[in-house]
Amino acid sequence: MTAEIIDGKAFAARVREKVAVHVARLKDDHGITPGLAVVLVGEDPASQVYVRSKGKMTVEVGMNSYEHKLGADTSEADLLALIDSLNNDPAVHGILVQLPLPDHLNEDLVINAIDPAKDVDGFCIANVGRLATGQKSMVPCTPLGCLMMLRDHHGSLSGLDAVVIGRSNIVGKPMAQLLLGDSCTVTIAHSRTKDLPDVVRRADIVVAAVGRAQMVPGDWIKKGATVIDVGINRIDAPEKGEGKTRLVGDVDFASAVEVAGAITPVPGGVGPMTIACLLANTVTACSRANGLEEPE
Ligand code: NDP
Repeated sequence: MTAEIIDGKAFAARVREKVAVHVARLKDDHGITPGLAVVLVGEDPASQVYVRSKGKMTVEVGMNSYEHKLGADTSEADLLALIDSLNNDPAVHGILVQLPLPDHLNEDLVINAIDPAKDVDGFCIANVGRLATGQKSMVPCTPLGCLMMLRDHHGSLSGLDAVVIGRSNIVGKPMAQLLLGDSCTVTIAHSRTKDLPDVVRRADIVVAAVGRAQMVPGDWIKKGATVIDVGINRIDAPEKGEGKTRLVGDVDFASAVEVAGAITPVPGGVGPMTIACLLANTVTACSRANGLEEPE
């Protein structure tokens, strides 16, 4: 028996449709168009691709997209001044600063300069604290997308054993908070975890957010477990031709699919959900800013 493949691409399309319906309602009933400002500093090629696709999808769901592309040598003062002006711009409901920033800029300082109500990435300390204390917050997009897929698959997550591999501020830690919020028994594993295979084998839910290609083999997975693979790793693919590469996750899909109950593929799993959740967060921020009903 092989696992059910959780189709993140199709799921993300459904999330975007719901966002578009809510955007249309905000426009028609209240004359408000949600706006997302994306700030890109420097010329990192991967970041440029992400920013382009965020802008395109923002417009596709009917929202306004404001792109601010700044040179790699932009000063901290100039970047903070831009964030301040976006914080005070009523047409902007969500602000995202594309990470990583060039080395001379202090990421913590910049992220925490964003108005928490507009922090659609959910990375500022105020939102991290609200999430940890169970208060209404902006939830980081990647873990939010993972949670949506898990809820959709399981219904209730209450009482399930979940292992999150990775403890980054943008994926691992908020993922663990969300699973705890849904009453899972949560273990956070990382590079110093002793006997990782044994820890993973206990889990009903495995979320892998490490950044190491195919690190988790099928024989670490409990039979029937749900596997959410956040990792995006590029590896050589000589079978596709000389110099060719392909994307793989942190989980060895071929062996894991034989034991898991459900699994997200890479690509086509968590990745598409991240941008869909960014759009959903922007509509939520816009609704809250205007004292209107939030999308579910
Ligand atoms: P980080 O590099 O910030 O964190 C990686 C985590 O993995 C760390 O906590 C690290 O532990 C842990 N780790 C490293 N090696 C091991 C090991 N051998 N055993 C157990 N744990 C280990 O990565 P991110 O959280 O930012 O991203 C993780 C992956 O997810 C990447 O592949 C990234 O590309 C992908 N990603 C995908 C997104 C999407 O939209 N699908 C969005 C964001 C990220 P320690 O803390 O001890 O060093």
